[in-house]
Amino acid sequence: MADTADVVVVGGGVNGASIAWALASQGVKRVVLCEKGALASGASGRSSALVRMHYTNETDARLAFASFPIFRHWIELMGGGPPVFTHTGFVNVVSPPYAEHLRKNVDVLRKIGINTVALSPTELRDLQPHANVDDIGAAAYEPDSGYANPAETVEGLRRRATELGARILQWTPVTKILRRESRAVGVETRAGRIDAGAVVVAAGAWAPRLCRAMGLEIPARVKGIDTVVVTRPAELAEPHVIFIDNVQGSYFRPESGILTIVGVPCQDWDLDPDAPLSLPPEAPAVGAQILTHRMPTMERATLARGYRAFDCYSHDRHAILGRVDGLDGLYLATAFSGSGFKIAPAVGMCLAELILDGRAKTVDIEPFSLNRFAAGRSPEGPYPYASRGDQAEPKNAAGAGDQVTRRP
Ligand SMILES: Cc1cc2nc3c(=O)[nH]c(=O)nc-3n(C[C@H](O)[C@H](O)[C@H](O)COP(=O)(O)OP(=O)(O)OC[C@H]3O[C@@H](n4cnc5c(N)ncnc54)[C@H](O)[C@@H]3O)c2cc1C
Repeated sequence: MADTADVVVVGGGVNGASIAWALASQGVKRVVLCEKGALASGASGRSSALVRMHYTNETDARLAFASFPIFRHWIELMGGGPPVFTHTGFVNVVSPPYAEHLRKNVDVLRKIGINTVALSPTELRDLQPHANVDDIGAAAYEPDSGYANPAETVEGLRRRATELGARILQWTPVTKILRRESRAVGVETRAGRIDAGAVVVAAGAWAPRLCRAMGLEIPARVKGIDTVVVTRPAELAEPHVIFIDNVQGSYFRPESGILTIVGVPCQDWDLDPDAPLSLPPEAPAVGAQILTHRMPTMERATLARGYRAFDCYSHDRHAILGRVDGLDGLYLATAFSGSGFKIAPAVGMCLAELILDGRAKTVDIEPFSLNRFAAGRSPEGPYPYASRGDQAEPKNAAGAGDQVTRRP
């Protein structure tokens, strides 16, 4: 006999776990999350998990702003567990031609309520004396921001969702989303069928494939994300602030102890998320170059480790969130495009509101709807920064390339 649920969530990354938590928090009795492996075994478990609010579009900034207090007040809100947030401070730096755009974005973000200021290169140098500011036009500084522990975040959401009555089924792949005419009516899993009033696809890099099998095309592709980790030299033993370096198209942040994580641009598209991954041999040298350019003292850093991961990138590098026209009962929370960790708490709340009340109230997520592609709309704001070469799509069968400006 089939199992039944009010809502089935497919995927146990940070977004699926957050949606299950938010639904259970809002009183939904029968929430079932199916995860094909272990929780956080996709992008979420390898995320650098920067928790900052600087964006060049308002919707993402609002999602990050609404999520921020949840990371900061984690223990109270999750009813226990270890804290997940480490405070470091954050800067987003741009080259001189984009300094005016940055100042305009900071104005927009301050109106939302985000604690941020624009710094001149000299002010940035005062804040981070080891930084090379020669090619920087301006920096947006967020004194309150930091990073999260990704595994503990997903675990905290799992624990709280379970306490509130959600069922989290690990090692339970969804093999098919079931539809009756124009309605999603449940899922088929390796352990049997689950009939449901609503199905949420939060399957990360696997979402396009899962949706295609039910006749729904999502304009998104899987791209690699490369990371190296270095041990800082003794002079830099104190944690530095997090940098998103738009000049170089990268980022770096401190990790526990005396480590620093560096993002290495990666242009490998259409990866198979089930295939083994390995870091290209040149990645450590590229990471070292990026890091020592911005912080010359890092020349004395030593390589600790490196890894390749991936995420699902939409054609305009913004998440796809919300319902699907012509398919009642189906909801998407996917294609986070290398930027979906910090916004996950608000994504959960918004999806729960949409499913329960027909409208997301925490943040209006309509700009992220699937139908924007057909309508030719993009959520991007009026003041973008330099597009990133590593995020420009190769023009091949899977889709046409586009301008991009997203950051982790
Ligand atoms: C190296 C790296 C650094 C990053 N840094 C940042 C950052 O600093 N800040 C930030 O905000 N974002 C960052 N990101 C992006 C962010 O981590 C991702 O956007 C986010 O984790 C995506 O979460 P998700 O829950 O949508 O997907 P995932 O974490 O990929 O989870 C999807 C889950 O669905 C499961 N699944 C798939 N198919 C099925 C099925 N058929 N049945 C059941 N389960 C299924 C998978 O096993 C997986 O666990 C980074 C990503 C990477 C890889």
